[in-house]
Amino acid sequence: AAMVKETIRVYARVKPLGRRQQAGTYSVDDEEDPLSSLEITVPRDLADGFVNNKRESYKFKFQKIFDQEAKQDVVFDSIAKPVAECVLAGYNGTIFAYGQTGSGKTFTITGGAERYSDRGIIPRTLSYIFDQLQKDSSKVYTTHVSYLEIYNECGYDLLDPRHEASRLEDLPKVTIMEDSDQNIHLKNLSLQQATNEEEALNLLFLGDTNRMIAETPMNQASSRSHCIFTIHISSKEPGSATVRRSKLHLVDLAGSERVAKTGVGGHLLTEAKYINLSLHYLEQVIIALAEKNRSHIPYRNSMMTSVLRDSLGGNCMTAMIATLSIDKRNIDESISTCRFAQRVALIKNEAVLNEEIDPRLMIVQLKKEIQDLKDELELVTGKERTSELSQEELLQLDELIETFLKDNDPGTTLDVGADMRKIKYCFIHMKRLMNHPTTSDKKIPSQDISEEEDTKKESGEELEKLKDLLQQRDNEINILVNMLKKEKKKAQDALFQLNATSACSAVLEQPLSINLEDRQSPSSCFSLKEAKDFSSSVHRLPFLSRQTGGKMSLGCQEAFEVFKRDHADSITIEDNKQLLKHRFAEVKCLGEKLNELRSKINHLKGEITQRHIQRAALAVSSPSEELSIFDPVEEKLRMQIEEEKKSYKTMFNRFKGLKVEIEHLQLLMEKGKMKIQKDFEVWWSEEAKNLQEKPEMVTSPNTVTTYPQFNKSLQHLSANSFSETTRVSPNEDPAEKNNSITFSNPTLKARTPPSSSTSIPLTGDSQADADILAFIKARQRILQKKG
Ligand code: ADP
Ligand code: MG
Repeated sequence: AAMVKETIRVYARVKPLGRRQQAGTYSVDDEEDPLSSLEITVPRDLADGFVNNKRESYKFKFQKIFDQEAKQDVVFDSIAKPVAECVLAGYNGTIFAYGQTGSGKTFTITGGAERYSDRGIIPRTLSYIFDQLQKDSSKVYTTHVSYLEIYNECGYDLLDPRHEASRLEDLPKVTIMEDSDQNIHLKNLSLQQATNEEEALNLLFLGDTNRMIAETPMNQASSRSHCIFTIHISSKEPGSATVRRSKLHLVDLAGSERVAKTGVGGHLLTEAKYINLSLHYLEQVIIALAEKNRSHIPYRNSMMTSVLRDSLGGNCMTAMIATLSIDKRNIDESISTCRFAQRVALIKNEAVLNEEIDPRLMIVQLKKEIQDLKDELELVTGKERTSELSQEELLQLDELIETFLKDNDPGTTLDVGADMRKIKYCFIHMKRLMNHPTTSDKKIPSQDISEEEDTKKESGEELEKLKDLLQQRDNEINILVNMLKKEKKKAQDALFQLNATSACSAVLEQPLSINLEDRQSPSSCFSLKEAKDFSSSVHRLPFLSRQTGGKMSLGCQEAFEVFKRDHADSITIEDNKQLLKHRFAEVKCLGEKLNELRSKINHLKGEITQRHIQRAALAVSSPSEELSIFDPVEEKLRMQIEEEKKSYKTMFNRFKGLKVEIEHLQLLMEKGKMKIQKDFEVWWSEEAKNLQEKPEMVTSPNTVTTYPQFNKSLQHLSANSFSETTRVSPNEDPAEKNNSITFSNPTLKARTPPSSSTSIPLTGDSQADADILAFIKARQRILQKKG
């Protein structure tokens, strides 16, 4: 089998610095060939921490370095596309991101949650792979995806189709099995079939949503777990029994941060311990692989190294992306990451083409071969079949002969099998055809006419004769025109069959319905209503639905509204909503243009038909006139059609692109909504807990007051993991500024960017203040009722 020997390709990506972060000094040198180098200079004040290590500057080699400005499409093109191509060719592939928390692993592998252009390697790879599969009609492809999260040595299936997983522990547990050939199998990890990009993307988002929901501030799953999204492709040529199977792992590793920071206790950097134990085992595996002549590689020490065994020192094309966040605070982590990368770069993999024989297909093939051989044997031994051929068999033979005769390809053979009776029949049939060419379908009426003509001539009535002749010609023309129409239709049908292979032309034949407001089928991506109505909790995907909506109390719902409005992500959602509106408008406009083009093309086709009829009529009515077969008018029409088809195709491709973008945006928004709801739940129950711990009444002119009876309802609600939180004063003076409803949750602060205000001050903005006051008043009313 074909084999490719190659070291693991190692890339670096530097995350853009935040506004307030101070830059550490580093420089990138792209000029060196064939590798680029990254030099990190440790600032003097930090360098003291590197005891025993006098160096102040470190240089690392990478296949390529993506500096802060590098965009996602460039990263995809250079890193992921070559691996995806190998996977399409039947080799295994792995791309993994390694780096400290916050350095951009998830951004690189999955993508940012805000912009369509921020989508990462996974969605881009899916798009690329499905595009390529569609183009290649020489093979039959099947694609599946799986999504595994490993946290604390336990595997979880993120593509669990059950709806209401709210903790990691609710997801199906995945375990490792090793067969007698020491191959790893993952038990309980579901492989979901994805026949197109849309289905695969929906699965990715399902997994990401499960990943998000399963995360709590306690388990910090996102920084401490590894996530492996795998695309499984199998392909075979039609009729062949050989199947190629390949896998592409896209891996978002746990944060690589270590406990001992520079300067703390004067540790050397290399002694700093991973927070994540499985990354420690990963490093051991990599050290072992990089050492020459090491026979034992400790893959089995952790689940993650077991799963990635083939990707490291095995049958796989592997690429690593070291993500770096090189600000001053993170210099030591960045250096560790680069050091790790340098070791990985030494590892050699041997990727082999994963071909195997499918026994079921082999049986089918062998059976056919046996039948062929039996037939041949019977022919050679002269053992004759004596029974008569059935009527059905004869008809089949007639058909075979007819297609054979019609086929212009000189290479075509007439294959009736090794049956003497059939072969004989064919010769007889051919002979019949040779001696009596078919006359039945093409009656030539002019013979009858000329006979009639003679009789009329005898009568000598010239005028009558001419009149009759004219009548005859008229009839002829009618008959011929009808025939032409039928032929034309046949030709068009054939043309349609031809076109049907390209999606674009197939659409051409049926009206495009782009009725944005009405289409509501689940597979439809164009429900504008949904895009408009962000605040409604109608979920696009059934698996995203959570039961919280039904349980929410009125007060809780109000708090949620305020929370939602002030959540940093709601700006993103609003932005995306606006963008989505624009895209819808574009799609609608494009759709209209496509419809116009379609009718234009159909109109041109109609003109050609018309032209045919006219010319046929002309040919019949004045047969003497030589009409050239070439018709410049028709030629021009055909060229016009070609032109229109071309612009149709370009437009259709844009239309398709927009469709994908709209779907992506909708999923991003859905995810944003889920995130807000989740943050709210966390905040809400935290608040409830805080209030239960301090049940005393809080009174102050500037602070809102909590009532004991309110706390009771809190306890009750928090049992459902929901609780009332906001402190409200009944004596609130609405005119007084600086009053605030305090959202005092430390975890929330840590989890949301600083722009998300955690308190609602009265701002002086009349609309905002009116909202807040309405909120407070509503709360008072509820309290009074309860009291
Ligand atoms: P990790 O997964 O390594 O913990 P993330 O991918 O979550 O890190 O990145 C942390 C933050 O930085 C996120 O808000 C992300 O959007 C942002 N970020 C990371 N890399 C980039 C980049 N190349 N361009 C813009 N933003 C980025
Ligand atoms: Mg991450």
